[in-house]
Amino acid sequence: MGGTFDPIHHGHLVAASEVQARLGLDEVVFVPTGQPWQKSGRDVTPAEDRYLMTVIATASNPRFTVSRVDIDRPGPTYTLDTLTDLRRQRPDAELFFITGADALAQILSWRGVDQMWPLAHFIGVTRPGHVLSDDGLPREHVQLMEVPAMAISSTNCRQRVVDGEPVWYLVPDGVVQYIGKYQLYKPDAGEANRKA
Ligand code: ATP
Ligand code: MG
Repeated sequence: MGGTFDPIHHGHLVAASEVQARLGLDEVVFVPTGQPWQKSGRDVTPAEDRYLMTVIATASNPRFTVSRVDIDRPGPTYTLDTLTDLRRQRPDAELFFITGADALAQILSWRGVDQMWPLAHFIGVTRPGHVLSDDGLPREHVQLMEVPAMAISSTNCRQRVVDGEPVWYLVPDGVVQYIGKYQLYKPDAGEANRKA
């Protein structure tokens, strides 16, 4: 499951858990993006912070792991590269790429989309506020799945921190504490804290 994970929240975790259980997957690999090409309009939190929050959020689940392939590869992240690298690391594995309804709707605009289909099965999951559809996508490579509805987005979590509202129970407890410890999402506070 690829994502910016800025921060990782319970919508990501429930979706991953549901797909893991329903398909009987051995492992769900969370892959935080490097520099996301679609999100260049805003400052994305440093990759190491997003990576660590993802590790904290997934540590207690024996089937969840986190991969550094995208954050260690220089330049913008493209899912084709993600899948190619994961393939190389796990030559015998059958790969499933888990994506929410909003991201699935964008998939045809992704670089090298035609080369991506043979690398993995694509699992599109429901997400509140978005229509889940496989219109225009190759049926043999894409499966749609309903997961418990969690109306949570990282954008909303970040805004809540800016507004001084709680993010408890939207993100795992350890992630709430990490955000507080490093003063993430508070304008100007992050740099000051890091320099201290
Ligand atoms: P942002 O608001 O910054 O875009 P986000 O909440 O959309 O953050 P991403 O890191 O962009 O989180 O998403 C990673 C993947 O998880 C995408 O495929 C996205 O569709 C999916 N996803 C995110 N939130 C949910 C949710 N609440 N339910 C189901 N899928 C989700
Ligand atoms: Mg998103």
